[in-house]
Formats: sequence, structure tokens, C-alpha cells
Amino acid sequence: MTRTCCGNSAYVCLRFDGRTFDSHCALKLANELETPLDEKGESRMDHQGGLRIQHYESPNYDERPAGTVVDTVVIHATVLNTIREVIEHFSSPQTKVSSHYTIDRDGSVISHVSEYKRAWHAGLSKMEDGRTNVNDFSIGVELVNRNDGSDPYPEHQIQAMRHLVKAIIVRHPIRYIVPHYACAEPPGRKSDPIGFDDSWVRDLVPPH
Ligand SMILES: [Zn+2]
Repeated sequence: MTRTCCGNSAYVCLRFDGRTFDSHCALKLANELETPLDEKGESRMDHQGGLRIQHYESPNYDERPAGTVVDTVVIHATVLNTIREVIEHFSSPQTKVSSHYTIDRDGSVISHVSEYKRAWHAGLSKMEDGRTNVNDFSIGVELVNRNDGSDPYPEHQIQAMRHLVKAIIVRHPIRYIVPHYACAEPPGRKSDPIGFDDSWVRDLVPPH
């Protein structure tokens, strides 16, 4: 089964589901498929906007409410110190938690849940505009960081976060990028990501 690539030579060709696309087409394909990136028990690589993304599926997700427009990205810190611990935590059905993505300190990206499903990352939550159940309409992005106030966010990690958010914005009309502590309910319930600097992502969404 082959599909026609859009043929824009500005994009790097890659293999995606056994077929060759350029990266722009791969993004379009990901938009078209219901569960484009995850297959249970399988880890594989793909490329989005220059990012290398590895997939370790989490069972901890369900359906978004019908008709939901995903317009928010929630940024977290893992508290867990290593990407391996995070993968194990999110891959266990007992933990009942997940996120769509985790970004390691070196900028490598792990996908756990399809963006088209509801991952379980924000918990009790409320936006400034009053909307609750932020998991319904958001994509969760975890940064590997101990969240102790002294563990730094390396530049590679910040740049990968920016690349990932830009790729997400291709697929969803993102208007808000919020740290978890800003939407957790009740206020003060969550402190992550301690040290998050809004200037890292402020230019990626319209001002409000
Ligand atoms: Zn969090």
C-alpha cells in the first residue's frame, strides 16, 4: 500500500508505517488516522518536525468527550528522575496516570498516548476561563525533572519542548500553554514544573 507524498522537497523523507513520506506528509497522515502513532507493546521511532519520537504506549487513557477541540498544552515535571522510571510508571495499568509525551533531559521525546485520546495527567483541574477537567481538551507534556527547585531544565530539553509544541499546533488549534501548577485544583495542589519559565513558550501561542 503506497500513498503519494506531497513532494515538497523542503522536507526530509522518512519511513512511516512501512511507507515513505516526507515529514510534512507524515504530519498530515497522523492527523487523518484515529490512532496514528501507538501500537500496544511496540516501541518504534518516527520523526515530526525534526524530532525523534519513540513510542511506549500507556494503557492509562480513554476517549475525549465527543466534539472536543484540543486547545491547551499542560506542561509537567515528572518528579521521577529518569525516563526509564517514567515509562514504567505510565506503562503500568495500576498507576492510572499517563501523559501524551515525556521529554528527557537530552531532548529525546517519548510518546505514551495518542493526541486523539484523553491521557490522565492533569487530575482535578480548572483553567482561568473556568473550564474544568482539563484532561478533556489538553495534551500533557512531561519534562524529566526532579521538581525539587534545583534540578535545571537543559537547553536541549527546552528546545525539544518548543519543537514538539510547534508540531502539536499543526494538528490542533492550541491557544493555551499552561504549567500544571496553574491549572491544578485546588490551587497549590501541584507545584510542577517548578522553575518553568513562561518565556520558553510564550511566543508559540497568541497573547491573551
Ligand atoms: Zn503534573
